Amino acid sequence: MKDTVPQFQTKLLIGGEWLDGTEGRTIAVANPFNGEKLADIAEATAADVDKAVIAAQAAFPAWRALPAHERGRLMLKLADAIEADTPNLARIEAIDTGHPIRDCLSLDVPRTVLCFRYFGGMADKLEGSVIPVDAGFLNYVEREPIGVVGAIVPWNFPLMFTSWKMGPALAAGNVMVMKPSEITPLSTLRIGELMQQVGFPAGVINIVPGYGDTAGQRLADHPDIGKIAFTGSTATGRRIVQASAGNLKKIQLELGGKGPNIVFPDANILAAVNGSAFAIFHNQGQACIAGSRLILHEDIADEFLARFVELARSIRIGDPLDPETEMGPLTSPLHQQRVLSFVDVAREQGGEILLGGKKPAGDAFANGCFIEPTIVRAKAGDRVAQEEVFGPFVTVLTFKTDEEALAIANGTDYGLGAGLWTENIRRAHRFAKQIHAGMVWINCYKRVHPASPFGGQGQSGYGREMGFEAMREYTVAKSVWVNVDAQIPPFYRR
Ligand code: NAD
Repeated sequence: MKDTVPQFQTKLLIGGEWLDGTEGRTIAVANPFNGEKLADIAEATAADVDKAVIAAQAAFPAWRALPAHERGRLMLKLADAIEADTPNLARIEAIDTGHPIRDCLSLDVPRTVLCFRYFGGMADKLEGSVIPVDAGFLNYVEREPIGVVGAIVPWNFPLMFTSWKMGPALAAGNVMVMKPSEITPLSTLRIGELMQQVGFPAGVINIVPGYGDTAGQRLADHPDIGKIAFTGSTATGRRIVQASAGNLKKIQLELGGKGPNIVFPDANILAAVNGSAFAIFHNQGQACIAGSRLILHEDIADEFLARFVELARSIRIGDPLDPETEMGPLTSPLHQQRVLSFVDVAREQGGEILLGGKKPAGDAFANGCFIEPTIVRAKAGDRVAQEEVFGPFVTVLTFKTDEEALAIANGTDYGLGAGLWTENIRRAHRFAKQIHAGMVWINCYKRVHPASPFGGQGQSGYGREMGFEAMREYTVAKSVWVNVDAQIPPFYRR
């Protein structure tokens, strides 16, 4: 695995061709494990986005006219091609993002394949409906594609998020301009290559890696883009909504989170310790749905924390390409600094660092963006209990009563994912109902599947990815009225 040379493109995909950027500039992409440059990729600017939109518009009539099962067939072929490319794609994702290779092989790539299979199969299952209306009239509703969809994705799960956007958008008959993060564009570019190999028509997918305030901004304000599907920070989401006002494009936002993960006194403690560690430390905590607030009942807090700290301490940190590694580096040096700055914030507000809070010592970690698993005890109003840290950093809070647990859980502006650990079925469902979140996991955490809706409430955004919900998001309903009764009198009787 270590010796394979990863295969990926470095140019922009526009209208079926791999091109340099209009201004000829490049972006250096680095490996967060050692700081080494992986590639200079072409930088897309606003002019390139404009070119990509024109190419997408040209491809739209034929793509939407293609029988839905043919669109689906191409997507299923793509899923097979991705599966066959697993070793390569997994390696690309590991060196570009810092994800441990064992996660790339067991989660990122298989979930991407599953997503394309699910939506490939969905393409010809999208049905309209017939609505019971007034006598003498037939009313039917068709779901039509929007047209050109702009997709903007972040750096934390670039491969998976590419499939989450492309899957439903393409199945519904849209064409796309896709902007990966400037930090992690490599796996999305590889998907573009595979799409060409399996025969996607030119212009259906255009890939324009570039910076947010140039390429991203142009997608958001472009007059000929019908929808932006965005995953990223809440601050950027707000800017995208503002930029979209010109043509009132449809917006879907998957934003930040501050996931509450509540452990009740009747929980299976061993399962909860394990699941809670996965909830925050998987992908170095760089997950919008991370269980970043560990909310423990006072009666079990000491026992739980003893086991939790011990497990976190044992997590194997190291080279993402080593199959034994359980935690890699964070994805960029800038982000590493940001996460470390929250350790100071926690201390200033009286937080107690129970584990970590620093770079691991030793030569092996010297050039990588590593941070030790970090466990901090704090108060519910503290900044580290309110703001998204987006790293291997969990804030521990305690409660006495169910009411208090709910108030803490619902006490932030976010509402994305939430976890509950309890053996009491009534309590589990009562909390699932009352918790302010788009997704609730009972005695598990961070389960996702392409058939199950994914998205948030409040400052975590709006709209849903995955499942039938996603097909609604990527289509517009057209209501057609037919007068089927010649006896209906005209409005003006003459
Ligand atoms: P970010 O908002 O900085 O960047 C996300 C994307 O937006 C990048 O491609 C970036 O280039 C682009 N962008 C930046 N400024 C832009 C602008 N003005 N106009 C248009 N595009 C612009 O986020 P990030 O740091 O890359 O990712 C981390 C954030 O993403 C976290 O807050 C995390 O919670 C969130 N996230 C949310 C979900 C979800 O599904 N809810 C999933 C993963 C990550």
